[in-house]
Amino acid sequence: AKEEGRNNFQFFTSEMNELVSRKSKIAMSIRKGLELGEFTVHYQPQIDITSEKIIGVEALVRWNHSLLGPISPAEFIPIAEENGMILQIGEYVLHTACQQNKSWQNAGLEAFRVAVNISAKQFSQGNIAEIVTSALKQSGLAPEFLELELTESIIQGTASAISKMQELKAMGIHLSIDDFGTGYSSLSYLKMFPIDTLKIDQHFTRNIHSNPKDAALVDTIIQMAHNLELNVIAEGVETPEQLAFLKTKKCNQAQGYFFHKPMLPEMIEELYVKA
Ligand code: C2E
Ligand code: CA
Ligand code: CA
Ligand code: CA
Repeated sequence: AKEEGRNNFQFFTSEMNELVSRKSKIAMSIRKGLELGEFTVHYQPQIDITSEKIIGVEALVRWNHSLLGPISPAEFIPIAEENGMILQIGEYVLHTACQQNKSWQNAGLEAFRVAVNISAKQFSQGNIAEIVTSALKQSGLAPEFLELELTESIIQGTASAISKMQELKAMGIHLSIDDFGTGYSSLSYLKMFPIDTLKIDQHFTRNIHSNPKDAALVDTIIQMAHNLELNVIAEGVETPEQLAFLKTKKCNQAQGYFFHKPMLPEMIEELYVKA
């Protein structure tokens, strides 16, 4: 039994070592990956439910690592937040998304907004208004065509978060709350913060037809958003049934695989040509 215990322990530690080393490989290669152009940005259309037209796109970062292959942002973003590289990744995505949207406009596509995810650290540490100003200036994109997606964790309470949001809002940028309903929810922030849009988290959307409580929550979030004169978008829409439910509840917009997966910028242009 003693022998077995030791073996289990050794097995456990070697597995842990493997995990630790993947994590530290990722952490240590972000800077080089950015320099080598291993990061790209894909775009997922956001659809107006009534007209079924594309009203915006969300920018989602991708990383094809030279040794590890494609790594999900769900894996590397938390690591980048931990070691601070999220600031560099965030600037890269913001600049790329603004430039891309401007070049779509230059190519004659009907103008729409690009939504960029902003991590908590980027919002609290970086001078977000300055970074955004420079991305707009360099790209020539008008502020009304940029939206920042903030999570509830960012905006929890602090006075400086409120004033940063007001500063961005005054510049003419749209602000949305991402993954709404999954964070620590003090609803009172909704009346204090200059928000345009609530994004219903995909977890709720997924369960609309399997869990009546999730359906009730989606319904309630939509009604609340409208009562507060906020726009509301459901993410993770995968089925016609989910879309039909959202339509009867008068949800404004939808995003998800039912319409389109995140795609290369050239594919967005093709969508427009077809439309
Ligand atoms: P998120 O902001 O909630 O983004 C939505 C995620 O859901 C994306 O995953 C998207 O590809 C996926 N998705 C979209 N439609 C559907 C659907 O119908 N069904 C399902 N199952 N999934 C759908 P992705 O691209 O892997 O990103 C994961 C997370 O990583 C994002 O969640 C966001 O939190 C973070 N992330 C991605 N790009 C960035 C970025 O540029 N900056 C920051 N700070 N975070 C990012
Ligand atoms: Ca998002
Ligand atoms: Ca989300
Ligand atoms: Ca999320």
